[in-house]
Amino acid sequence: MAKTASIVWFRNDLRLADNPALSHALTDSDTTIPVFVWDPDGEGDWAAGAASRWWLHHSLTDLTDSLEQRGARLVIRTGDSGRILAELVETTGADLVVWNRRYEPAVIERDRQIKQSLQESGCRVETFDGSLLREPWEVETGQGDPYRVFTPFWKSVKGTLDDVEPLEAPDAIPSPEDSPESLQVDDLELLPTIDWDAEFYDTWIPGESGAQRSLDEFLSHRMADYADGRNRPDKPSTSELSPHLHFGEISPRQIYSAVNHSNLNGHTRKSADVFLSEVGWREFAYHLLYHFPSTTDQPLREAFEQFPWEESASALRAWQKGRTGFPIVDAGMRQLWAIGWMHNRVRMIVGSFLTKDLLQPWQQGARWFWDTLVDADLANNTLGWQWVSGCGADAAPFFRVFNPVLQGEKFDPDGDYVRMWVPELAEMPSKWIHKPWSAPDSVLDEARVVLGETYPEPIVDHGEARKAALAAYEHIKGG
Ligand SMILES: Cc1cc2nc3c(=O)[nH]c(=O)nc-3n(C[C@H](O)[C@H](O)[C@H](O)COP(=O)(O)OP(=O)(O)OC[C@H]3O[C@@H](n4cnc5c(N)ncnc54)[C@H](O)[C@@H]3O)c2cc1C
Repeated sequence: MAKTASIVWFRNDLRLADNPALSHALTDSDTTIPVFVWDPDGEGDWAAGAASRWWLHHSLTDLTDSLEQRGARLVIRTGDSGRILAELVETTGADLVVWNRRYEPAVIERDRQIKQSLQESGCRVETFDGSLLREPWEVETGQGDPYRVFTPFWKSVKGTLDDVEPLEAPDAIPSPEDSPESLQVDDLELLPTIDWDAEFYDTWIPGESGAQRSLDEFLSHRMADYADGRNRPDKPSTSELSPHLHFGEISPRQIYSAVNHSNLNGHTRKSADVFLSEVGWREFAYHLLYHFPSTTDQPLREAFEQFPWEESASALRAWQKGRTGFPIVDAGMRQLWAIGWMHNRVRMIVGSFLTKDLLQPWQQGARWFWDTLVDADLANNTLGWQWVSGCGADAAPFFRVFNPVLQGEKFDPDGDYVRMWVPELAEMPSKWIHKPWSAPDSVLDEARVVLGETYPEPIVDHGEARKAALAAYEHIKGG
């Protein structure tokens, strides 16, 4: 009898362990054909940005190696996903195509069409939940509505999660004798053409084993202090799992299970719960993106459509370049540029600064993050920007304007984070490092800082900017 074959369409699930689509293909068919299609047009307005493409290049290289070790070859193609899958079904004789679901609005629509057209051609299609702890449509309020507030959402999700047991990675992946033609990862030309990514290489290990390493490191050395330490950008205190999670090199089920199987005493249990609730925010972000798909560009709170932003190319540029004259803001923006990642506390500070001190639309910040973050994720980024600008579900109220000096002094008390990313302030004493404009001339001289020359003067007066932001908010208040 002829052997049956199935196609596993890899997308944001670049792993072999706990991959329900792959596991299903292996039990259903005699042979399995792993496929990746580079199809930026299929992502609507949100094709991967430059930093994400860097990550993707390395993650695909890792996946190719892991598959080869198990006897399979990743078939890499570029172009329209639907057309390519249909061609592969035709040329390989596969009678099943499987994938793990995605939730971005344009991708949902594209995948629906692909599924329909493959089924119409007689091919079976099965899709799986590989990226979330709960599907967005499985969680609803007592009234049957989507949640808009995190705490009851997470309580409801958590209540159903006792039996999370991730799937093992397969030892072998039987493949057809003739593998279809494939491009090499290099052919996709995902790496930047400018010299920008040097520090990425020192910071990250993309791929499934890198994800596992980050998780192990977090569980052994960082989790115990996470509840207190997670707001400190000057210390490695969070998991740095976000790009691995975005690309599906690790699943939230694996994380949930690993945390709960680790040795949790009283103090660590509290930290573990706080950490898992952050993973819960990711679930909430996907819940909101699924139920309110226009929020990628439109504020959830409609009144904000009338917000009187004061668009300014030079203000936006100063923020993007980390040249606002506010050290904690500049440190964050330079960290982002250097390593494609920024600490969550600092994301909140720079987000508040852009939207409130500079009155630039949150969508501009979201777009910059989209291009420069290795963890750029449509659900989390949308939630983050709507949260900081006050226009989203369960968001910080608009009138909560972060004071960049006080935030710096509280969360980077010795100034180490600023010293690391803003080297021209390296010799400033801690007392003045978050407000160099207030320092006596003798201190500036000794630290070899000349404001306006070696480091920018502040581009706004925070007190005045705060008043202007609150006045702008009066226009839409009550909406
Ligand atoms: C303006 C803004 C934009 C953001 N954009 C993104 C983005 O594009 N991609 C992204 O993954 N995160 C985004 N975040 C959320 C958060 O900053 C990052 O997930 C976190 O800093 C990643 O670091 P970590 O993996 O060490 O997090 P940890 O503290 O170790 O948390 C573990 C995981 O939980 C999830 N998580 C943590 N905090 C949040 C949160 N506030 N919202 C949603 N999920 C969370 C992430 O998947 C993270 O990897 C944004 C936050 C803000 C304020």
